[in-house]
Amino acid sequence: MSTRRPLIAGNWKMYKTVAEAEETARALAGQTTDVDSVDIMIAPPFTALTHVASLVKNSRVAVGAQNLFWEKEGAYTGEIAPGMLTEAGCRYVIIGHSERRQHFGETDETVNKKIAAALTAGLAPILCIGESEAQREADETFSVLDKQIKRGLKDLFANDLRELVIAYEPIWAIGTGKTATSEQAQQVHQFLRGLLAELFDEPFARSVRILYGGSVKPDNIAELMSMEDIDGALVGGASLNAETFARIVTY
Ligand code: PEP
Repeated sequence: MSTRRPLIAGNWKMYKTVAEAEETARALAGQTTDVDSVDIMIAPPFTALTHVASLVKNSRVAVGAQNLFWEKEGAYTGEIAPGMLTEAGCRYVIIGHSERRQHFGETDETVNKKIAAALTAGLAPILCIGESEAQREADETFSVLDKQIKRGLKDLFANDLRELVIAYEPIWAIGTGKTATSEQAQQVHQFLRGLLAELFDEPFARSVRILYGGSVKPDNIAELMSMEDIDGALVGGASLNAETFARIVTY
């Protein structure tokens, strides 16, 4: 039996005004007061972070950002520093989401710098990795993930990575309604844990939470969570509605 505490994380992407974010966060906090065995996180857009963080302060819900820049401050127009996120009340930060890799040119190298900067600032990084449909069909899933992990965690040590969370998100399953089967996901999660043991050590690999992401819904979460190496979920679309997300959290 694993001692890893499940984490159900919601990625709101570029949705919700401040007022809408507050309304959803308030409702979610209200519907999860009895949850004590699962960690809950929501990642609103930057503009709503402070509002949402102060609203959920005394609830079961933690707040995360969807991105950060690795420098502490400077002439980097449009970027947000790690310390700004902690000041806004963030505990987590999503790094290297496939939408950022696809639309904003993020690479394993920039992801690596962002992970290091997040850890230095005391934020728990959620490192997103995943293969495309073409890569899966070409039997490249494991080699793609191997590269993303090795490059993303380059020059980092187990001791510094205690707060690390990994999110396996097959790109073909994000926002498509296609979910990996729980067996497909488990196979990958087991591979990732083995890789972490090889790169760091066994106790570290056993302690890292590995989330699954890709069209997670109230009706498929329990099956996914029954798998040995699945420690939670990163949820996009289904996290936008408080009631739906609360049903996932209370799977
Ligand atoms: C995501 O954005 O990380 C995600 C998994 O989206 P969805 O749940 O909508 O597939």
